[in-house]
Amino acid sequence: MLESEQQSRTVALRAEALDKVFQVSGSARVTRGLHAVNHVSLTVGAGSVLGVVGESGSGKSTLIRLIAHLIPMTGGDLWLREIPVPRRLTRSALIRYRRRVQMIFQDPFSALNPYYPIQYQLERPLKNFRLVSGKGEMRDAVAKSLEEVGLAPAADYLMKRPHELSGGQRQRVVIARALIAQPEVILADEPTSMLDVSIRMSVLNVLERLQQDLGLSYIFVTHDLASARYLADHLLVMYAGEGVEGGQTADVVDEAAHPYTRLLLSAVPEPTREVPIGKPAVAGEPPDLAQLPTGCFFHPRCPQAMARCREEHPLPRTVKNEHWVACHLYG
Ligand code: SF4
Repeated sequence: MLESEQQSRTVALRAEALDKVFQVSGSARVTRGLHAVNHVSLTVGAGSVLGVVGESGSGKSTLIRLIAHLIPMTGGDLWLREIPVPRRLTRSALIRYRRRVQMIFQDPFSALNPYYPIQYQLERPLKNFRLVSGKGEMRDAVAKSLEEVGLAPAADYLMKRPHELSGGQRQRVVIARALIAQPEVILADEPTSMLDVSIRMSVLNVLERLQQDLGLSYIFVTHDLASARYLADHLLVMYAGEGVEGGQTADVVDEAAHPYTRLLLSAVPEPTREVPIGKPAVAGEPPDLAQLPTGCFFHPRCPQAMARCREEHPLPRTVKNEHWVACHLYG
């Protein structure tokens, strides 16, 4: 078997040096470049989950919008099953790409059309992607997708509108709508952050079961390291638009190398440790992405910052095996 063929079986999606710069207008009509994503590379294994974690403003949601082709990238390259994905896709290529790479949005209420019943909303991807040939097949596919996400019997939900469902049920419908397109990769943008704490775990369980049963690959974006640790086998930690640490979840969590990752971890509640309610994960504010600090972007907040950190931007270095970090404390 050719090496590229073998890789396409083990790697679902790969990105190299993705960049996104937004041009924003300031005073006196001066435009500035806002560096939302800086040279971010990632690999999602086939049937694996990559957790992308960081505070709000770290660029993680922009990153998956680039991968979803919802916004154009300023630089970088993307491969799906090791086939290059052009930066600009024709309409038909975009439809094919969107079928294979589906997105689950943070807010299930705004992700669903309030005027239409659930049945209509689940039939649309089947029609758009021409996945079924008749009404019977369509009915069966809709019922199966609802039952797969735990909304059974499906007949109880088909004619309901989004406002007639609970938050957890709405997010399950959004997951069903993504699944019905038979994707290979799911990009989940904070899928549980708008749900009550009591139902977050049940939605995470649904995502985990589907990933294992259907062999799906996920990029799971969250500010909550506890959920990422639960679901992901690999982690990418982002700060100020760039990746600062990555590797297998066990290595990143048990042997966190970057001071930012360590501070995020210190705010994760553990049964054996008391965490004051409302304690911010990291003291200070994230930087203005249009005026990034010199040197390491984290140096104004880093408890271990050295003189070198104010001048020199740290490059990624291997800690061990797949575990890497971008910090002057290493190497
Ligand atoms: Fe802290 Fe310096 Fe490492 Fe940046 S490079 S995280 S400032 S120690």
